[in-house]
Amino acid sequence: MHDVAIVGAGPAGATAAIHLSAQGHRVLLLDKDDFPRDKVCGDGLIADAIGALRRAGLYEEVRGLGYETRLCTVYSPSRVQVDVPGEFLTLKRLLLDDLIARKAIASGAKFLRHRVTGIEPQSNGSALLTVRETDSPIRSRIVLLATGADVELPEKIGLVDGADHSAIALRCYVRSPVALDRLIISYDRSILPGYAWIFPLGNDEFNIGCGIFYNGNEHARVNLRDTFQTFVTEFPQAADIMRRAVSRTPLRGARLRCGLRGAATSGAGNILAIGETIGATFPYTGEGIGKAMETGELAAEIAHRALVSGDFNILREFPARLERELKPKFLGYRIAEEWLSRPWLNDFVARRIHKSKFLQDSVAGILNETVDPREIFSLRGIVRSFVR
Ligand SMILES: Cc1cc2nc3c(=O)[nH]c(=O)nc-3n(C[C@H](O)[C@H](O)[C@H](O)COP(=O)(O)OP(=O)(O)OC[C@H]3O[C@@H](n4cnc5c(N)ncnc54)[C@H](O)[C@@H]3O)c2cc1C
Repeated sequence: MHDVAIVGAGPAGATAAIHLSAQGHRVLLLDKDDFPRDKVCGDGLIADAIGALRRAGLYEEVRGLGYETRLCTVYSPSRVQVDVPGEFLTLKRLLLDDLIARKAIASGAKFLRHRVTGIEPQSNGSALLTVRETDSPIRSRIVLLATGADVELPEKIGLVDGADHSAIALRCYVRSPVALDRLIISYDRSILPGYAWIFPLGNDEFNIGCGIFYNGNEHARVNLRDTFQTFVTEFPQAADIMRRAVSRTPLRGARLRCGLRGAATSGAGNILAIGETIGATFPYTGEGIGKAMETGELAAEIAHRALVSGDFNILREFPARLERELKPKFLGYRIAEEWLSRPWLNDFVARRIHKSKFLQDSVAGILNETVDPREIFSLRGIVRSFVR
């Protein structure tokens, strides 16, 4: 009998495993893939991820291996350029996820490459997990589900309410001798309703990709490969990188689940769901590593108290804590998304940012999570931008 079985060893699951094992609990971390494994991503780390890496004791190592910059330049539909200062890191997920999973193992978690195919809650709240690789079921007092945007298993046990993924994105790696000292995000008119990014990885390597948020709009389903082609042809920095590219990996795509919605966060018995499974990725930017880690931390804290006290009703606090501590941040991003997906409003805000110190500070504060996006994306915010 394990104390906690964690299904999925991405940032959400492995972070939970680090914190639980460090407190002496018997943790089993399961993933269908062996590590290191690739994960399609932009590989960008913003303030929330950096904070969670610090708390996991991994910041220095990630910083040492990754690329660091203090600037992210965002382009509006009419290419009005907004420079957002902050601390940003990039590190390929192949390396990042391996580091987090290895830290979990070093902290005492046991890792098994197993695909979990079923979870059966028992009458005492514990669970039996069936896996593809062996006939013997695995027993655990608590289960954390962290399968990312792959919700086949959560769907099977009734946690996912049928809501589809909310975004899709693709990326490739390009090696090119172009000097670029910042992250670039573009909501360029030529690629709307998609968005695109160029994230330097250091050593002349770049992660270039684009995505589309559906927001329930079926018409938004564009051909992303065409969007990518438009971006690397028409966006000057992307075109420059591509023209001088010495190598390039094929485009690979993946789905995203955003907005902290689309799945129940706890199930029958002692089961909690975390990370992208419960939509813990920000709408509009697609940043999800930090929030996945934060949901893992929160679940670990609550599971620890339940295990120590023997009162598993404590697990029922998880949905309310998420609602209270994380949901407001997602609401702010959703409002920002509603504003910025209107090209004229996006351009208007970008132009105002150039003229207003209040808006410049607020935009930096949003990324650092010291400012609620609603400070800007409201009538009051716009009025204030004419004063300061
Ligand atoms: C193209 C793209 C670009 C992105 N760019 C960024 C970015 O720059 N910055 C950022 O912060 N976020 C970005 N994201 C979002 C980010 O990738 C996710 O938010 C993050 O990976 C979520 O972490 P997770 O641990 O919840 O899930 P994952 O990282 O997906 O991990 C889930 C794990 O569960 C395993 N698994 C699934 N099913 C089973 C099963 N049945 N049994 C056992 N194991 C299973 C999988 O193998 C996987 O290892 C991007 C996403 C995409 C698609």
